[in-house]
Amino acid sequence: MDNRDSYRQMLAAVQAFHDKHDFKNTGGEELTYRIALMAEELGEMSACVTKGKAVADLAEETADLLILLIGTAIAADFDLRQAFWNKMAKLDQRSSRMIDGRIRVSEFREL
Ligand SMILES: [Mg+2]
Repeated sequence: MDNRDSYRQMLAAVQAFHDKHDFKNTGGEELTYRIALMAEELGEMSACVTKGKAVADLAEETADLLILLIGTAIAADFDLRQAFWNKMAKLDQRSSRMIDGRIRVSEFREL
């Protein structure tokens, strides 16, 4: 069944992309390389915002980063869906503070 709201389907699409180009055996799953690619996409997102580009451009660059994030979970062999929900549960327990006029949600460990 095609369910485009499902993480499973997104993961399968990214896995198919990795398989198509044999990323596993061609350096495409090396983590240091992937970090560089993700930093590059974050830079492209930054340019969209700082240069006032269209939201559609920001959406595309954000999708680039999401695809890389899902692919990094494949490369490093962890369950990103589970990690997402584990982290959301932690974030839900945290408090927020206004710092320099902007909200921050953190553990706020005291020194
Ligand atoms: Mg891009």
